[in-house]
Amino acid sequence: MKFYNTLSKKEEEFKPIDKNEVRMYSCGPTVYNYAHIGNLRTYIFMDILAKTIRKNGYNLKHVMNITDVGHLVSDADDGEDKMQKASEREKKSPYEIADFYAKAFFKDIEKLNIRKPDIIAKATEHIPEMIEYVQQIVNNGYAYETSSGLYFDISKLPSYGILSGKNLAGEKAGARITVDEEKKNPFDFALWKKAPENHIMQWDSPWGRCYPGWHIECSAMSKKYLGEQFDIHTGGVDHIPIHHENEIAQSIGNNGKIPANYWMHGEFLLVDNGKMSKSLGNVYTISELEERGFDALDYRYFCLNSNYRNTLNFTFVGLIGAKKGLERLRNLVKVHSTSNEDVSDKEIEDYRKSFLDAMSNDLDSPKALSIIWEIARKQNKSKKYADLIGEMDEIMGLDISIDKILERENKEEDKLEQSLDIEIKQLISEREIARQNKEWEKADKIREQLEQKGIRLKDTKEGIKIEKILE
Ligand code: AMP
Ligand code: ZN
Repeated sequence: MKFYNTLSKKEEEFKPIDKNEVRMYSCGPTVYNYAHIGNLRTYIFMDILAKTIRKNGYNLKHVMNITDVGHLVSDADDGEDKMQKASEREKKSPYEIADFYAKAFFKDIEKLNIRKPDIIAKATEHIPEMIEYVQQIVNNGYAYETSSGLYFDISKLPSYGILSGKNLAGEKAGARITVDEEKKNPFDFALWKKAPENHIMQWDSPWGRCYPGWHIECSAMSKKYLGEQFDIHTGGVDHIPIHHENEIAQSIGNNGKIPANYWMHGEFLLVDNGKMSKSLGNVYTISELEERGFDALDYRYFCLNSNYRNTLNFTFVGLIGAKKGLERLRNLVKVHSTSNEDVSDKEIEDYRKSFLDAMSNDLDSPKALSIIWEIARKQNKSKKYADLIGEMDEIMGLDISIDKILERENKEEDKLEQSLDIEIKQLISEREIARQNKEWEKADKIREQLEQKGIRLKDTKEGIKIEKILE
């Protein structure tokens, strides 16, 4: 496998620390609101990475955090805690907020066929580990206290900025971040914040009643579950200049090491070529896409058509294209699945290899999809092709294996049946009775009535199938 490493700024051959087990940490969501489709693009990237690693024969230990305290409105320690703000907005405790939105997040990722990481670690459940971690940074002389908290002293770390290539000498205080007179350097960041009285989440610590800075949870929890050094660290590109830079600084302050060997970042999703923003009303969630008639996997397919390292522009026209493409792909797989024509094992093996090569080449999902399409479009039809695509779907997660396709069809039918109103249900059963009594004319008339109401009935070997007639 070859991955682009933000740390070395080049593509590198992947060599895990241990021969068989890969250890990976992914920065997870701040659970103060529903995840938007931009956030979810980053987790789709994380998912195909995890699955590609596993498909290459490695065991993977995958940890993801849930930020339920300490992420301030600005990534650079300014403003209110996002959880506190949400708690005031919704008049619920921050724990209720975290619980509600974490559940919503896990529902979303399930719909997107994103496998839940093996270990999910909540910040609020790791306060003692964080205190211990920070204490070590203090003992090693990398921190100082002010009236607002405990800060990391970046002057002690000449390599600060190693990930983003940030030139601190060239940055002026106050240009991007507000000046705190007590801080020695404007880029010094909070390890531990002293809690104002009204701050709901606060804990006793050697530095008073406090709450953790945003970055410390990832350092403390990755160390706890994966050790001081592990293989891969993932997140979105916005994490490079602050959050991940600071995680590296904390680790060096704590134990002298850069925590991960490979740092991988998913590029941003734009909407209509711009940033998503509440004021523009273009911050979409998965439920909103569903309300507009899309399936979560239409969005996954939309994302996989582009490389994770490119910005991707979301439009509904693009999503409609993805929906149609995915439908077509499933239909082609269905046709293959009913044919017993033989194809050579070599051909299958060659496709299998070129698919995994594409994904192992820095997750080239567009190329991997083009291989799937090539197989789907084969003029000679064979169940072997359908099975091969099903195997590839273990990484792609698009429900294009024959089992998943049939399962989806059944579910859709059940859903349709449940949504039918009483009048239609009655007509369907009247027609059934007419058929049993061999009153064919009556049965046909009812069928026509139903078609006028947008419902088509198909008599199949397995019984009657109900379909909605699309305009
Ligand atoms: P948050 O819940 O704000 O901590 O963000 C969760 C994840 O979503 C982080 O890894 C971010 O880097 C990522 N993210 C935020 N906005 C976008 C976006 N527009 N496109 C892709 N990823 C994003
Ligand atoms: Zn993190």
